[in-house]
Amino acid sequence: MIRLSGVGKTYDDGTVAVQGLDLEVGQGELVCFVGPSGCGKSTTLKMINRLIEPTTGTIEIDGRDVTGQDPVELRRGIGYVIQQVGLFPHQKIVTNVMTVPLLYGESKATARRRALELMDLVGLEPATYADRYPHQLSGGQRQRVGVARALAANPPVLLMDEPFGAVDPVVRVRLQDEFLRLQRELGKTVVLVTHDIDEAVRMGDRVAVFATGGRLAQYGTPAEVLGR
Ligand code: ADP
Ligand code: ADP
Repeated sequence: MIRLSGVGKTYDDGTVAVQGLDLEVGQGELVCFVGPSGCGKSTTLKMINRLIEPTTGTIEIDGRDVTGQDPVELRRGIGYVIQQVGLFPHQKIVTNVMTVPLLYGESKATARRRALELMDLVGLEPATYADRYPHQLSGGQRQRVGVARALAANPPVLLMDEPFGAVDPVVRVRLQDEFLRLQRELGKTVVLVTHDIDEAVRMGDRVAVFATGGRLAQYGTPAEVLGR
């Protein structure tokens, strides 16, 4: 589904962020990128949706090189969730979730109905939360909005960068569990970046362990990575 071959990234200032990365993520698979800060995880994620262009190598999704594709078109098929979810502060939660489908020409009624369904799906009761504003939600709830919004265009691929990083440990475990349940239902292809090995092992079908210098140290099932 997603295939990286010989992917490398050197930033303009000479920083080598990623080198010689070969990696495949299967259809419907949840792969966690884990490793210390600065080892190229976010850079790799952003190369998949072309927020960053690789210096070397190729990235394919469903056999199509992402480089040849219109980035806007490409990103329609890729939901992106980051730690600091950028919600529009002056728009209601339901409107925040509707933004993407509206942008893609969905009718207002359809987009709203879909947004309410998605809120329900991520555990934000629409009757209670649809008309609230982002500042009236907890950190955990805002992350749920971020996930709902990323799902709004019904993308086959989800890229998540420390999606549960900004919330306290108890909420984090709850969000992890709920996301796993959701993922079993939806069957998306997911790449999740985390610096937390416990999260990676808990959530990943496979785990890609990055090492300092942007190389892949290990790639396997959680059991393989833990050496069991
Ligand atoms: P991680 O997600 O694993 O923390 P990143 O992909 O963010 O790592 O960063 C990898 C390396 O690239 C780090 O050394 C970081 O400082 C560097 N880096 C990230 N973004 C840029 C940039 N825009 N310009 C220069 N160096 C960058
Ligand atoms: P979580 O466990 O998801 O992090 P919290 O314990 O932070 O949730 O919040 C508990 C409840 O308080 C939630 O229902 C949330 O909507 C509500 N809440 C949090 N902050 C505010 C606020 N500024 N205004 C209104 N309600 C809030």
